[in-house]
Amino acid sequence: MIFEALEVGIYGANCYIAGSEETKEAAIIDPGSEFDKIDKKINDLGLTPKIVILTHYHGDHIAAVQEFIDKYGTKVYIHKGDAEALNDSSMNFSKTMFGKGVSIKADVELKDGDEITLGELKFEIIHTPGHTKGGICIKVGNIMMTGDTLFSGSIGRTDLPGGSFEEIIKSIKEKIFKYEDDTVIYPGHMSPSTIKKEKQYNPFVN
Ligand SMILES: [Zn+2]
Ligand SMILES: [Zn+2]
Repeated sequence: MIFEALEVGIYGANCYIAGSEETKEAAIIDPGSEFDKIDKKINDLGLTPKIVILTHYHGDHIAAVQEFIDKYGTKVYIHKGDAEALNDSSMNFSKTMFGKGVSIKADVELKDGDEITLGELKFEIIHTPGHTKGGICIKVGNIMMTGDTLFSGSIGRTDLPGGSFEEIIKSIKEKIFKYEDDTVIYPGHMSPSTIKKEKQYNPFVN
C-alpha cells in the first residue's frame, strides 16, 4: 500500500491518501481543503484518485471533495447517517467555516461492516457514532483512520448535532479497541497513535 498523510486547511484536518501498488488507484480520505496540495501529492505518487471516503460530514473534512469529482469523476462514499448533512451546506457547517457552501450527493451510502475494494486494498467500514450519527473509522491493513472519533490522547466533540458522549465512548471501547493493539491510528486531526497507547493513556476511556 502507498500511504500518505497531509494536514490541510485552517482547521488542520488530516487528509489521507491510500493507494494500490498494483493498480495505482487511490482512495482519498477526508479531502478537507487545499485541493491543489492534495492533487499534487497524488500526482507525485503516480496515483489516480478513484474514490473519496469521508469519515463524517463536517466542513473541515469535505471542502475539497467537489474538485475531485469535477477533475476525476471520483466517487464519494459516506455512512448513510451522515449523507443528508453532506448534501446540505448549512448542516455540514461548510458555509460558516469557509464562507463558501459545499453540498455533495454521495454516490454510495455505507453501513457498518461494509468493505470497499481497490486493487489489493480492502477498506473495512466501522460505524462509530458519537461525534456525528454516521461517523466511521476506516481500517486498511494495519492502519485505522479514526476521523474525529478518536484522537491521540483525546476524543472528538460531542456537543454538535448528532453528537453523544455516551455513544462515542461506547464506539471507542466496543468498536475500535477490539482490534489489534499494534493497529496504527490516524486521526482526523493531530498526530498518529496506536490502539495500545490509547488503551493505556487516553484519559477519556480510562
Ligand atoms: Zn468533525
Ligand atoms: Zn474535524
